[in-house]
Amino acid sequence: MKTIGLLGGMSWESTVSYYRALNEGVKAALGGFHSAKLCLYSVDFAEIERLQHAGDWDATAEILCQAARRVEAGGADFLLIGTNTMHKVAPQVAEAVSIPLLHIADATAQRLADDGIRRVGLLGTRFTMEQDFYKGRIAEGFGIEVLVPDEAQRDLVHEVIYTELCLGQVKEASRQRYLEIIESLRESGAEAVILGCTEIALLVQQGHTEVPLYDTTAIHAEEAVKWALEDQA
Ligand code: GLU
Repeated sequence: MKTIGLLGGMSWESTVSYYRALNEGVKAALGGFHSAKLCLYSVDFAEIERLQHAGDWDATAEILCQAARRVEAGGADFLLIGTNTMHKVAPQVAEAVSIPLLHIADATAQRLADDGIRRVGLLGTRFTMEQDFYKGRIAEGFGIEVLVPDEAQRDLVHEVIYTELCLGQVKEASRQRYLEIIESLRESGAEAVILGCTEIALLVQQGHTEVPLYDTTAIHAEEAVKWALEDQA
């Protein structure tokens, strides 16, 4: 089994989901007492969040590059960045290490493509919904059209992520707002919706809506388990 490298803490609420999903995935594949070999570096999210909102992405990249080097030195065979937003600096992080990076947008888009989805809605932070590093990769790399909510809706989705979900707060009122936004994406033609922030599945799950949801945390972890067990069979 390969050792999974994980850059976590962004936020730690979703790193808990990753840790559980990675271990459950290995256990489901191998049974018994088997669990994931992994090397986790968990950052202080307060530093990252401040730099993100100040627009200092170079400084965030520096923190993640250093963390990635430590994870590689700790024996990881490949690397996950456990947040969609911080894939904005994925090229710099990939450059800083010699182990491969499993990109969250590629794992998700491949799943969409396999399922024949041609037009998808995207929920995430404003950075993820508005900038090109994520949407562009899915559109250009996989030929899938990406729809985002309108500006007021994007503000709400972003605020809930930073003022509730990353702080461990799950509120019914916010769930209802998210479900309304998912419905409006469907009315605009989305065949499915990407939960493009690793905390959103704490709030909204498939049981809440008939619109197919693609949870990036779960998909990223499932793909990582495949990579870890590749030469196992
Ligand atoms: N975990 C979130 C994401 O997947 C947001 C926190 C962050 O900015 O990293 O985008």
